[in-house]
Amino acid sequence: MRFDVITLFPEMFSAIKDEGVIARGIKKSLLSIHTWQLRDFSDNKHRNIDDKPYGGGAGMVMQVKPIRDCIRKIKQDTPGTMVIYLSPQGEKLTHDLAKELSELDSIALLCGRYEGVDERVIEHDVDKEVSIGDYVISGGELAAMVLIDSVSRQIPGVLGNAQSLNDSFANSLLDYPHYTRPEIIDDQQVPEVLLSGHQANIDAWREDQSLKNTQKKRQDLIKK
Ligand code: SAM
Repeated sequence: MRFDVITLFPEMFSAIKDEGVIARGIKKSLLSIHTWQLRDFSDNKHRNIDDKPYGGGAGMVMQVKPIRDCIRKIKQDTPGTMVIYLSPQGEKLTHDLAKELSELDSIALLCGRYEGVDERVIEHDVDKEVSIGDYVISGGELAAMVLIDSVSRQIPGVLGNAQSLNDSFANSLLDYPHYTRPEIIDDQQVPEVLLSGHQANIDAWREDQSLKNTQKKRQDLIKK
């Protein structure tokens, strides 16, 4: 799967390109991340891509032309790319949406800054707006990285084994509790069943814990 990221801060993406699960996915050629410096599409010597808002008010707005030119170039190179604008006004990113997006071949991610992008970009150039939650952050880069990570985890082979199958939300429930060595610390004991070596009992315990965890922490998922 290919991600093209339109941003004023391409260097930020080294956080996921160089380390961890995403970096391993890139090494295995299961995914690729291409960053585009939006200022390269500016038509003025100061490399500006923003201007004052019509109607007045605080903050700057990202202009149509550089964004549109950049998206055109991406679509020329990779026809059929879905263009997503990271925005607090978009559809909330969930496990189901991440899974759905992981089935695409290519996604272009537009990262806003300042007051966001000129509305005409959203009307004409963007296929979907996606939000990482009901709060506002200062730029779309962190949101894009969250989306790339959550989507990439769903691509077969990116995780080492069947790791993601029991992750929270994968089967509408939260994950079961995990323990590692030592068996006892400060009087806290690992549940007996996990030391029993009896896999069927361990599986049943985990299923039960997963349900209890969900009931305790996220009643809304049980209702769904
Ligand atoms: N004025 C915009 C609003 O209230 O809808 C917020 C602009 S915000 C300061 C700058 C950029 O951060 C946005 O254009 C968007 O790309 C990104 N952003 C902020 N909050 C986000 C969220 N919850 N999910 C995804 N992207 C977000």
